[in-house]
Amino acid sequence: MNPVLIFDKQAKSWINYDPTTDFPIQNIPLGIFSISGGPKKVCTIIGDTIIDLHGLSEYRILNVALFKTSDFEQDYLNPILQKGKSSLRELRKDIFELFESGNKFVNKDLCKLNFYKREEVTLHLPVKPGNYTDFYSSREHATNVGTMFRDPANALLPNWLHLPVAYHGRASSIVVSGTDIIRPKGQMVLNEGEAPVFGPSRQLDIELEMAFVVGRGNRLGHPIPVSEAEDHIQGLLIFNDWSARDIQKWEYVPLGPFLAKNFASTVSPWLVDLDALQSFKVQGPVPEKPLLDYLKQDEASNYDVHLEVVLKTSNGDENIICRSNMKYLYWSMSQQLAHHTVNGCNMESGDFCASGTISGPTPDSFGSLLELAWKGTRPLQMKDGTTRTFLQDGDTIIMRAYAQNESYRIGFGECRGRIIPAL
Ligand code: CA
Repeated sequence: MNPVLIFDKQAKSWINYDPTTDFPIQNIPLGIFSISGGPKKVCTIIGDTIIDLHGLSEYRILNVALFKTSDFEQDYLNPILQKGKSSLRELRKDIFELFESGNKFVNKDLCKLNFYKREEVTLHLPVKPGNYTDFYSSREHATNVGTMFRDPANALLPNWLHLPVAYHGRASSIVVSGTDIIRPKGQMVLNEGEAPVFGPSRQLDIELEMAFVVGRGNRLGHPIPVSEAEDHIQGLLIFNDWSARDIQKWEYVPLGPFLAKNFASTVSPWLVDLDALQSFKVQGPVPEKPLLDYLKQDEASNYDVHLEVVLKTSNGDENIICRSNMKYLYWSMSQQLAHHTVNGCNMESGDFCASGTISGPTPDSFGSLLELAWKGTRPLQMKDGTTRTFLQDGDTIIMRAYAQNESYRIGFGECRGRIIPAL
C-alpha cells in the first residue's frame, strides 16, 4: 500500500478561501451532491467551492488510475470505498495537484464549469451505512452517567477499564445533516413505581460523537490487529446520536438501548479522510488498568479534534452549550476496531462505528444535555431568556468539529438537525 498521504503544510490553492475555512486544500473530503433533483454525484470541497468530480472526469481534467467517469455518478461513496485506501490516496493526491496554486498547466476555465456554491447544491448522506456500532469510549461520559444513575463511588462498571464497551445500533435511521428530527414517542415511567405511559419523549437529548467509516473490511474469523486497524478506517464524520432519556431509562435493562436510540442519528455530509488528520495525532489517556495484549498500542492514536455544540433556539439565537475534544477518548478508534473483531466478527466496507458521547473533564465540555444540565437539576440558560434541560420542539442542534494547526484547519462542516413535534 502507498504510504499515508500528508499534503504540504504550506500549500495553497488557486481557489481562494478564508484561512479559517474547514476545507483548505490539505483536507479534500468526499461527499455526494445533486442539483435540483438531478443524479447524485461524487464531489469534494475547497474553501466554499463544491467541486463536481464526475464533471472533472468527464472533461478528462481528472484522470485517476482505476477510476472511470461512471464511478463518480453514484448515490453513495460505498463503491469508491471498496476500491481501497491506495486508490483513494491516488484520487485525493490527483485532486490536490490539480488545484494546488503551483499548477501552471491546469485549464482553470474548464475546471470552473464544475464549481458550485454551497446554496446551489443538495448534499446527501455520503456513505450508505452497512452496520452501525455505538461505542461508549469516553471515561468522563461513562463516569458522569454512572454517577447520576448509580453509585458515584462505583460509577464505572467493572468491565469499563478493560474493554471498549459498545452495542449494535441501527443503520437505517442514520440521516444527513439538515434532516428534521421528529420527536419520538414511546413508553416511559414518569414517576418511579408508577405504571408506564405512552407519548412523545419529554427528555430528548443529543450525544456529541465522532464516527469512523470502515474502508476495507476483514474476513469472518480473521480479527484486525490493533496495529493494523487504521488501514481499515477510511474517514470520519461528526455523529449526533439523538437519545430519548425517558424511554431509555425504562427500556434499557437488561439488553441496553433500543427505541431510545434507533429513531435517528445525524451525520455531517463530508467524509474527512483519516490521512488528513495524521498530523493531529496525540497520545491518549494512560490506561489505568493493564491492557490485554490485543488492546495494547505502541503509537499515539488519539486525535486532537475540537468539538463544539450549538443550540439554536427558534428565534435564531445560537447558544454554544459545549466545547469538547476527541483527544479525551479513553479508547482509540484502533482499539475499538481491534476489540470489535477480536472474536472474528467481520467488518464490511461502509460500516459505521461511533465513539460514544465525547465528554471532557469540565462541566462545559460535557457532550449531552443529560450531563450539561445534570439530569435536569442545572438548567442551561439561553440568550432568549428561556432555559433547557432537554430539547424543545423548534430547537436546532449544530455540531462542529475541526483540527487546527498554525497553518490551517481540517474541519468537518456541520452536523445539524432541528426538532419538530411528534406526529
Ligand atoms: Ca451514543
